[in-house]
Amino acid sequence: MFSGKHYVAGEWIDGPDVFQADNPSTGDKLPTKFQHGTVEIVDQAVVAAQACAEEFASMLPAKRAEFLRAIADEIDARGDEITEIGTLESALPAARLTGERGRTVGQLRFFADWIEEGSWFEARIETAQPDRQPLPKPDIRVMNKALGPVGVFGASNFPLAFSTAGGDTASALAAGCPVVFKGHAAHPGTSEVVAKAIEAAVAKTGMPKGVFSLIHGGTRKVGQALVAHPMIKAVGFTGSTGGGRALFDIAVSRPEPIPFYGELGSNNPVFLLPKAMGEKAADIAKGWVASLTMGVGQFCTNPGLLIALKGADLDTFVDTAASELGQVGGTAMLTDRVSSAYHEVTDAMTKHGKVTCALKRRDSDGKFEGSPAIFRTTAADWKANPELAEEMFGPAGIIVECDSVEDMIALSTTLIGQLTATIHMVDGDADLANALRPALEKCAGRILINGWPTGVEVCHSMVHGGPYPASTDSRSTSVGSLAIKRFVRPVSYQAFPDALLPAPIKDANPLNIPRLVNGKWQMPG
Ligand code: NAP
Repeated sequence: MFSGKHYVAGEWIDGPDVFQADNPSTGDKLPTKFQHGTVEIVDQAVVAAQACAEEFASMLPAKRAEFLRAIADEIDARGDEITEIGTLESALPAARLTGERGRTVGQLRFFADWIEEGSWFEARIETAQPDRQPLPKPDIRVMNKALGPVGVFGASNFPLAFSTAGGDTASALAAGCPVVFKGHAAHPGTSEVVAKAIEAAVAKTGMPKGVFSLIHGGTRKVGQALVAHPMIKAVGFTGSTGGGRALFDIAVSRPEPIPFYGELGSNNPVFLLPKAMGEKAADIAKGWVASLTMGVGQFCTNPGLLIALKGADLDTFVDTAASELGQVGGTAMLTDRVSSAYHEVTDAMTKHGKVTCALKRRDSDGKFEGSPAIFRTTAADWKANPELAEEMFGPAGIIVECDSVEDMIALSTTLIGQLTATIHMVDGDADLANALRPALEKCAGRILINGWPTGVEVCHSMVHGGPYPASTDSRSTSVGSLAIKRFVRPVSYQAFPDALLPAPIKDANPLNIPRLVNGKWQMPG
């Protein structure tokens, strides 16, 4: 059923050695032997990507949109096969993988519509004023152009939506950048089926073969060579802070530094405001439990840090959460590495002298499991012990108890970069919510009121990013239509005759897209 091979510019090729993925539910190896990647295979894929980069970038958006829609259709056609291998490789339930597939194909179709709409070109035209005094003004036009070949790393926790044809790949292809994808060793079979869907879409829509390659990992040299390759012009990454930082350092130390868009760690602070806690502490606790345990807590948006005033309402909250979470047993996590990291960080927290454990993790070491854990500390201890802010990737949370609202506001100003920050409030908490907002705007990419941060909507107004260490570029998002901006750059064209201009900025507006002409927006007719 699986070839176990790399898909490089239209060919399925072997590597020098093999690895097998784990079945996290049993701890056994899955039968298929997948090929190790090499530096040479990376080079082959990147050279093929570079060879078609200009052709792909210059294609009319409608043609690339057809390709994105064909990938979505081909993934749908392989839905059962993807769910079958995906559940074996990730231990995620079939319903979750079906939902994630829906999100993945939805995202591809969303980007197809978006590139046809055309405002992502950010086309601006200033026409010439030859008689202007004291100097004539030349005709200057600007539009976004694709950067060139992009390296993408698959995430372990989203085998579909942040992997082979996930958000980074979809937005790079939408922008007109060929993609060289480094598969995650946790789900190589899932990657292969999705790569086959892309292969079929390439054939169906007549795309150049180098537009997409899949290289399995097996060794760290693959990812490092991909980021270091001189023809790679940008990288999209989702994973750990340590891994992302190591690859970011390679990207910016190259002779030609390139943008590295890493979506890394976050503990997603949630502020529980006093009046809301007085009215509904137990209900809020139930909402937290549902969010914290979703996907065994293996979401970068997992709400792992709660900040509240100490007192009876907080005790009610903790008792409710501990009683609900106490019913949840150990569940298989994505990989041995994710589970071991979770055990290590929760064990360190349990032993920490400045932390009390409200619910102890109950799964045994040596299994790929994660069960919930809750910790408590004071605001003073949390601030004095920076290790308590470390992300616990799994179903664990730490509750920081403040003595006063002033304490809460002061704590909000010390938060490091976050993907999200949340406030739970009722009307009577509005002044405090307003006082917290400036600090949360500084540290987070997305701020929520009375919700939970897990579940990231793919839409035009989403930001899934934030200051470091949430991401390596606080100006960007890896989800939503703004994600395309990561893979384009503006180019100005001065005094070009109309015949030589690219379509988005020709006089006649042949793509019928929104443009800023001499300072005024002109919408398509
Ligand atoms: P990871 O260790 O960061 O690995 C992600 C990808 O980067 C893999 O392809 C990995 O290759 C590669 N990589 C990591 N370090 C590298 C290095 N120094 N040089 C070259 N390549 C490198 O993430 P993971 O395996 O998915 O999970 C481990 C931890 O990451 C979790 O426990 C969790 O803390 C965090 N995580 C965060 C998110 C998030 O959304 N923010 C998502 C998933 C995981 P190899 O497979 O060859 O190592």
